[in-house]
Amino acid sequence: MKPFTVAAGLETGTLTGDESYYCGGYLHVGDNDIGCHLRSGHGTESTMDAIANSCNVALMEMAEKIGIDNFIRYQHIFGFGEYTGIDLPAEASTASLLYTTDTMTPVDLATNAFGQNFNVTMTQLAAGFSSLINGGYYYEPHVVKQIQDENGNVIETKNPVLLRKTVSTETSELVKTYLQAVMQYGTGKRAQVEGYDIGAKTGTAQKLPRKDGKYLLSYIGYAPQENPEVVIYVVIDEANVDAQDNSSLVLELAKNIMSEAFPYLGITTMEETGGESQTQQSGQSFEDTEYSDYDQDYTDDYSNEDGSYVDENYKPDLDSWATSSNID
Ligand SMILES: [Zn+2]
Repeated sequence: MKPFTVAAGLETGTLTGDESYYCGGYLHVGDNDIGCHLRSGHGTESTMDAIANSCNVALMEMAEKIGIDNFIRYQHIFGFGEYTGIDLPAEASTASLLYTTDTMTPVDLATNAFGQNFNVTMTQLAAGFSSLINGGYYYEPHVVKQIQDENGNVIETKNPVLLRKTVSTETSELVKTYLQAVMQYGTGKRAQVEGYDIGAKTGTAQKLPRKDGKYLLSYIGYAPQENPEVVIYVVIDEANVDAQDNSSLVLELAKNIMSEAFPYLGITTMEETGGESQTQQSGQSFEDTEYSDYDQDYTDDYSNEDGSYVDENYKPDLDSWATSSNID
């Protein structure tokens, strides 16, 4: 969730990316001390460090500058709480899982900013994240891109449907440098797969009630850094171990998946692109950004009240699946 918060700040001009933060292990918000995951504190951090370290305090400070109205507006621009329109039956409404400008308090803003206290679906997150790293283009998610018959004839092609622009190209590029830092020196580095230039964000969400010590661990990454070809999103919901808040579990799983999937999918290696891309683009200015405000035309038109995204006639052909051979 943290990259989305930073992106909202950059897009609204409430953040430049050049700020520095100080994490002493907690931040006082309202009547509460809200802790960072590193109780001893991360010390002084750049925006890049804040993302690489996954620092809650820096993110809460960012959110304070962004403000409730901007923050909530961008949650919807990124598709959280909205129907994605994915071609699966019975997509559920998630609007009630988010705060509104009327219900959000400063404490809610602070905890939402680092990814706690609200919920999104994996489809929403994967679609929103893809837009964040592809230059800001939010596409309608699909399960398959083409359907063929047994002879290889194309029966149906799902053409990409561009729904909206979430962020500018400049914001996308800058956020990607932060995500690359996560893999180079931050919380994701143990998932690094040799030969690939990967950007990513890790997540550790504590489930309610907190005293139960139940956690949801996640890793969302992409490769290559330049012109990403694939997004991988791994979630472990309540790992079957004593200490569930152990991020190495999800890092190891993500690494294993990427190690096998990237060569199979033919993802571009660092060798093919001539090495790692530059991490830091210093002195980048957002003031000259030529950016059309797509948000003006944006409407929440993914209401599923009429069931238009539910195919009543859909019946899975279980017999066919059961008998078809998976060996090719
Ligand atoms: Zn911190």
